[in-house]
Amino acid sequence: MFQFMTTVLVTGGAGFLGSHLCDRLIERGDDVICADNFFTGSKENVRHLIGHPRFELIRHDIVHPLYVEADRIFNLACPASPEAYQFNPIKTIKTSTVGMVNIMGLAKRCGARVLHASTSEVYGDPLVHPQTEDYWGHVNPIGPRSCYDEGKRIAESLMVNYHQEHGTEIRIIRIFNTYGPRMAPDDGRVVSNFIMQALKGEDLTVYGDGLQTRSFCYCDDLIAGMMKLMDQDEHTGPINIGNPVENTMLELAEAVIKVTGSRSKVVHMPLPKDDPRKRCPDITKARTLLGWEPQVRLAEGLMSTMEWYKLKLEQSQAKP
Ligand code: NAD
Ligand code: UDP
Repeated sequence: MFQFMTTVLVTGGAGFLGSHLCDRLIERGDDVICADNFFTGSKENVRHLIGHPRFELIRHDIVHPLYVEADRIFNLACPASPEAYQFNPIKTIKTSTVGMVNIMGLAKRCGARVLHASTSEVYGDPLVHPQTEDYWGHVNPIGPRSCYDEGKRIAESLMVNYHQEHGTEIRIIRIFNTYGPRMAPDDGRVVSNFIMQALKGEDLTVYGDGLQTRSFCYCDDLIAGMMKLMDQDEHTGPINIGNPVENTMLELAEAVIKVTGSRSKVVHMPLPKDDPRKRCPDITKARTLLGWEPQVRLAEGLMSTMEWYKLKLEQSQAKP
């Protein structure tokens, strides 16, 4: 007899967040198809799942149509680090537009529920603080971050219109800065940069005066929130998922130096154009509608993240 189980497609599943999501889905008994073009992700992130009877890895770029059957789709495919998404900005736009059309077409054909990994970047350099979901944002449409920000905004619009026109079941999560093990050491984001620099005894590169703020969420908390949004039947979102504790980049540098016990110093570098001055999520909706809030404190999360990078560094140094 046929056995019915949930088949879940995770695009960008070999990336930092995608690979943690694949782990949680496999653990709870889902059938997982992981599709990734390996631009910023790697097989290494899902190596432990390869060969598992309920896990399938395919090299696929979502800019091209994908013909698989799925009950649920988590669309995480898109480079997330400013360095990575600005490397080939037109490709980044294609991923969030052409790629999103392909994902919504797949969802429509299969009758699948689709969750899209949107971002706090839809708020741009925000004039409302902390950011609530009803804030429309302050985005420079022709700036260096626009390939990512505007792409994510059109992806949200596509979802809402598929929902209204075709009844496609949608879930939109707006993710605020998330960190943890498996974020690529050379990814260019602040947590990976600072930890790698501290472990190597190099100066920590603080951009600008370091007084700009971000709110850092540990990956396990983020994945728990993402799964809660997907699993409930009432709310489409958008819902902010992130940690509402706000830190300056100087405070983050200090915390990393403390956790690593490094003698590294801080060095200031030019602030990239359009770098948002402050960012902090209002998570009232996540708390009240999903019963979710983050559990992991920054010092704790930085410690386990640091341990992972340390291991990676030792492994790379051990190679002949
Ligand atoms: P990541 O770069 O580690 O993961 C992205 C994955 O998508 C990689 O494996 C990459 O190879 C893959 N990918 C990129 N373009 C693709 C394409 N065209 N087709 C198929 N695969 C493609 O980044 P992450 O931090 O894991 O982010 C995952 C998602 O969450 C992204 O959509 C990102 O925009 C969103 N997000 C992340 C954060 C964060 O702080 N981590 C914040 C906001 C939003
Ligand atoms: N940043 C920094 N040093 C680095 C990398 C980033 O000071 O080596 C700053 C960056 O200018 C921004 C913040 O850290 O203000 C977060 O940057 P990240 O690239 O991690 O993500 P963003 O939130 O900007 O997308």
